[in-house]
Amino acid sequence: MKQPYCRYCGKAIRKRTTTVYFVNTQEEKERQDRVSSYSKHVVGAPMTRAEAQLLVGNERIVSHRKRGTIIDGDRIDRVTTWDGESYESQFFCTGDHAQRFAYAVLRTEKYADLAMPAYRKVTGT
Ligand SMILES: [Zn+2]
Repeated sequence: MKQPYCRYCGKAIRKRTTTVYFVNTQEEKERQDRVSSYSKHVVGAPMTRAEAQLLVGNERIVSHRKRGTIIDGDRIDRVTTWDGESYESQFFCTGDHAQRFAYAVLRTEKYADLAMPAYRKVTGT
């Protein structure tokens, strides 16, 4: 999908990204995967972005964070990946802007009667 912009404010709509955490063992990966369905866990300890890219596969890395402690050195502990095509929304940057857009549309003469079937059913219009 081409970069979408909010139909209300014109702001670029955010990419739909995934946070990938690097863990030490398969057991830790399985435990963390059970806790969070919003992030992914991969076994590995990459030191460079290129090493991290090999571990995450096809998804492209859009940002990374190094742990930077004495124990772990400069290893990367998480990356943010993007599939190269998904955005948070097709039309709006937030739910509030979708609502404001709907109000603006319904307040126009041309679209004042615009409604979904459920509305037409209960109002008989
Ligand atoms: Zn907006």
